[in-house]
Amino acid sequence: MNNENIVTVLKENKMRPSFIRVKIYTLLVESRIHPTVDEIYEQLSKEILTLSKTTVYNTLKLFIEKGIVKAINIEGNELRFEAQRGFHGHFKCRECGNIYDIPMNEKEITSVLEGFNIEDMQVLVSGICPDCE
Ligand SMILES: [Zn+2]
Ligand SMILES: [Zn+2]
Repeated sequence: MNNENIVTVLKENKMRPSFIRVKIYTLLVESRIHPTVDEIYEQLSKEILTLSKTTVYNTLKLFIEKGIVKAINIEGNELRFEAQRGFHGHFKCRECGNIYDIPMNEKEITSVLEGFNIEDMQVLVSGICPDCE
């Protein structure tokens, strides 16, 4: 997604495409590492010296409300963020801590759970990735 598309997504979701919003959303679209608030802050504060962690928090909160970003809760205490890109599961490596996406068929899962009121869907697989093995 180029800069123009990022701005379009923000506008379509009724957000003013401020410099910081564009930067944070671009980072989430481009990165596949599922960063934490701290990681987002660390990466962008090198470039945006006036950035505060509160701004990162508030921007993420807004993105989640608008449905363009998803918060994922891995292992209870660790909140990570990614741009919304359809349902998928996650693999977490317990050596390097990296998180990998696992494609999954959402329809298959919801059809097995017919009649259930699904409020949240998260699939987490853990182990050791090929790089650490
Ligand atoms: Zn690893
Ligand atoms: Zn993911």
